[in-house]
Amino acid sequence: MSEVDFDIGIIGGEPAGSATAAYLAKAGLKCVIFESEIFPRPHVGESLVPSSTRVFKEIGFLDQMEQAGFPKKYGAAWTSAEKAPIYDMS
Ligand SMILES: Cc1cc2nc3c(=O)[nH]c(=O)nc-3n(C[C@H](O)[C@H](O)[C@H](O)COP(=O)(O)OP(=O)(O)OC[C@H]3O[C@@H](n4cnc5c(N)ncnc54)[C@H](O)[C@@H]3O)c2cc1C
Repeated sequence: MSEVDFDIGIIGGEPAGSATAAYLAKAGLKCVIFESEIFPRPHVGESLVPSSTRVFKEIGFLDQMEQAGFPKKYGAAWTSAEKAPIYDMS
């Protein structure tokens, strides 16, 4: 078998692909991400619930993100006009 440059190839460099690559790289695997878009790009959304902090910490990205000085969100709740329970994601 011919030699390969990477252990893992991941298609898509958004949250799922980039976090997976970061975890695998920390575990010692050589990863390559194939992304069809040019980054940075305009993107709707960009607000994160606090439970994502654990992932940023584990992949070693939290300090870099803190340095960017984004506004902090301490929790989120989804409500409905219907009589239904409130889902608290803090
Ligand atoms: C309008 C809107 C607002 C949102 N707001 C928020 C928010 O505020 N906070 C939040 O946490 N989530 C938000 N979300 C949800 C969030 O965007 C998704 O949960 C998240 O992007 C999913 O990440 P992913 O990596 O699984 O997939 P995606 O973000 O869809 O990434 C897939 C990537 O793969 C690439 N790709 C696909 N096929 C190929 C290919 N064949 N070759 C190369 N590259 C390829 C694409 O270009 C893309 O970059 C929002 C979603 C929408 C639609």
